[in-house]
Amino acid sequence: MQKYDIIVVGMGPGSIFMAYEMTKIDKTKKVLLIEQGKRVEDRNCPIEKLGKCAKCKPFCNITSGFSGAGAFSDGKLSLYNEEDDDIYVGGNLHKYIGVEETKKIIDYADKVYLSFGADNKLEGTEFKNEIKEIKDRAKKEELSLIDIPIRHLGTEKAHELYKRIENYLEENNIDLMFETVVDDLIIEDNTAKGVKIRSANSKEKETTSIYGDKVVVAVGRKGANWLSDMCKKYSIKTESGAVDIGVRYELPDKVMKNINTYMYEAKFIGRPGPFKDKVRTFCQNPSGFVSAEVYDNNLTLVNGHSYKDRKSTNTNLALLVSHNFKYPFNKPIDYGRNIAKNLNELGNGNIVVQRLGDIYRGKRTWEKELETNQVVPTLKSAVAGDITFALGYRTMTDILQFIRQVDKVVEGFANPENLLYAPEIKFYSNKIYIDNNFETSVKNLYSIGDGGGMTRGLMMASCSGIKMARILKDIK
Ligand SMILES: Cc1cc2nc3c(=O)[nH]c(=O)nc-3n(C[C@H](O)[C@H](O)[C@H](O)COP(=O)(O)OP(=O)(O)OC[C@H]3O[C@@H](n4cnc5c(N)ncnc54)[C@H](O)[C@@H]3O)c2cc1C
Repeated sequence: MQKYDIIVVGMGPGSIFMAYEMTKIDKTKKVLLIEQGKRVEDRNCPIEKLGKCAKCKPFCNITSGFSGAGAFSDGKLSLYNEEDDDIYVGGNLHKYIGVEETKKIIDYADKVYLSFGADNKLEGTEFKNEIKEIKDRAKKEELSLIDIPIRHLGTEKAHELYKRIENYLEENNIDLMFETVVDDLIIEDNTAKGVKIRSANSKEKETTSIYGDKVVVAVGRKGANWLSDMCKKYSIKTESGAVDIGVRYELPDKVMKNINTYMYEAKFIGRPGPFKDKVRTFCQNPSGFVSAEVYDNNLTLVNGHSYKDRKSTNTNLALLVSHNFKYPFNKPIDYGRNIAKNLNELGNGNIVVQRLGDIYRGKRTWEKELETNQVVPTLKSAVAGDITFALGYRTMTDILQFIRQVDKVVEGFANPENLLYAPEIKFYSNKIYIDNNFETSVKNLYSIGDGGGMTRGLMMASCSGIKMARILKDIK
């Protein structure tokens, strides 16, 4: 019978930084990471060659494999401002371990990224006066502007960096099991004992059991669905969360020139009327490319990234609205999934793209109109159509009002030829209850990273892994 000290489900940044840290603090621990996707060097997305999403089987290469969603991400590592007494980006790790410790772990994780080849340059630290001027203008429009230093890996460099980490972990006796699905957890007397696995490539549903003293789930947004099923099956305590629904917005670099130069990424947050929902910009990619990624049940969602060397002339960013539900309906994941499903159907399985001006005019966008549009879509597989058929009135109104607000700070932000791609949805709404040691309501079962709702980004997911290793080292 195989037995490990620690089994980690998933191999995203949360998981691999946990394993990295364990090699530094306790080499005696026997650690196994299990991933349904491929090794990082075997991951590639055929969308550029084919011009459309190939719906890779058994799993989307953008979201699955070594380094999880990090491999094809833009690789923006969000740091923090020394003077801030809170952490504004990347989720809620600081709510469990405090702001000061979170800052220290961010410093440490940043050094680890640098040691594996991250760019030395930090974006957003040079133009303090210019940033202040934009911040003041934003404030007048009732928008907050969060600026924090960012280290930009770039999609292709992120790939290389994660390959070095993959090599390092194997050289340091961490067991990596690829193309293996964790089908089920083994839980007896409310205590985790291990996992049940099966091959990702076989039609056989038969599983094999692997036992471990501690089981850490680090399944990312890709695994949110599976995790939600596990919570129901084993009565793992969850907390109600939000779902973030919106669009990927694409506009010319020249409109975003100042923001891109001074900050690389601006995080605007507003609460436009009449609903006063929280609306924010997220994941900004200067000279970037809009991308499509496939989730469970073949849901296609839009995202964006940018390369270090290859450039477009457009900037893309997410415009996201946070929705909370309480009573009688409290299924934010289902709500988001239904919206995504409707949009996918409208796009015949593809992302739908529409010009802002067409939404104002109350009409769909046609392919031929995109051919002469000032903003040329960088996601070639996107289908021109009408996103207002599927995005709810409330979400749509929030987004349109927010665009108008930002336009007063960044001239041209509401240009009618700017593009909205949908659906962009963040499924981190299945928030798992964890204590300060990241232990769930099931003994010896832990949750880190985006999947359980603790984090929302590369840096914080990595930090949650580092802290997890430090916690587990001391727990008998
Ligand atoms: C296109 C794109 C661009 C992004 N850009 C940025 C950015 O610039 N900056 C930033 O901070 N964040 C970015 N993100 C988000 C970032 O990638 C995530 O926040 C981060 O990867 C979360 O790490 P994680 O370890 O929690 O999970 P993930 O990276 O999602 O990894 C989870 C892994 O678990 C595996 N898994 C799930 N269920 C199972 C199962 N049952 N059995 C086996 N394996 C399983 C999945 O296949 C996956 O590989 C981007 C994401 C995408 C998709």
